[in-house]
Amino acid sequence: PFHKSKGQHILKNPLLIDTIIEKSGIKTTDVILEIGPGTGNLTKKLLEAGKSVVAVELDPRMVLELQRRFQGTPFSNRLKVIQGDVLKCDLPYFDICVANIPYQISSPLTFKLLSHRPMFRCAVIMFQREFAMRLVAQPGDTLYCRLGVNTQLLARVSHLLKVGKNNFRPPPKVDSSVVRIEPRKPQPLVNFKEWDGLVRICFNRKNKTLGSIFRQKSVLSILEKNYKTLQALQLSQNGSIEDKETALDVSALGDTGEDLNMEIDDDDEEMEVEDGETKGSEFKDRVLGVLKQGSFEEKRSSKLTQADFMHLLSLFNKAGIHFS
Ligand code: SAM
Repeated sequence: PFHKSKGQHILKNPLLIDTIIEKSGIKTTDVILEIGPGTGNLTKKLLEAGKSVVAVELDPRMVLELQRRFQGTPFSNRLKVIQGDVLKCDLPYFDICVANIPYQISSPLTFKLLSHRPMFRCAVIMFQREFAMRLVAQPGDTLYCRLGVNTQLLARVSHLLKVGKNNFRPPPKVDSSVVRIEPRKPQPLVNFKEWDGLVRICFNRKNKTLGSIFRQKSVLSILEKNYKTLQALQLSQNGSIEDKETALDVSALGDTGEDLNMEIDDDDEEMEVEDGETKGSEFKDRVLGVLKQGSFEEKRSSKLTQADFMHLLSLFNKAGIHFS
């Protein structure tokens, strides 16, 4: 009866559901968003804890089952079920999101939630263990990666609970973890495309020094192209070369999310792309000058903090070097 392709693994342990509810800190006034309610085991307890629940479910059979389950109960007028793909539909207002999601949408869903406005208070979500550990990884941790750095730019993330396979029916192949995601308020004043562009380059080879990463031909040629385009544009406008700080633009986050998901297997085997170093050039000196200025040349991405990335990005931008 369960669709593997839709990631249907039903929570069957009521004690675990109680723990999730308890840890989410739901208020009686909360509008709760649930993604993938399935047969409604979690939904029922969400309805008991909050003001109302909006549940987005892809599978029409599950939608029917859910409606049947709550029909004629006092819950029915506080539950709204939306049938559809959560990645494609417009999300309604919500205070808090609590969900046991299909793991294949983890990354795009995380960034869809983080780009939702008005910003919600918190999301408590079941993820595949490995994905969860990547989200919360700190500089120096083996799983520290682009996904974690990007998420932590926008939110505070913490690991709440380890969940074994046998809490689900049918049991999935992987272990799970519940994670809390609390959007930062206010959101950082960073152009996300710039930020992600830098982070992507840095984590392409996360254990190399930044000095060697930014000496790669492919990296320099992309940056030089951006540089020249921008110079031409600014000169043609009014001759002034000035960096404007742009407010966070998260509109493209859903797309990057998909990329981030791909990262899940390829982290430790660094791709060796054929890519020599460039000979000396004015532009290369400019880039390396930025690294020297912030003492970044000998540092490795795997150890850089949020503040380091922020500092590095602002030094690059001040030197007219852009990542998007
Ligand atoms: N919440 C239930 C529970 O804990 O027992 C079921 C969780 S199950 C892991 C994931 C649910 O998400 C399934 O009911 C599946 O049909 C639904 N689903 C899969 N892809 C979806 C999508 N793109 N949008 C909305 N729901 C989806």
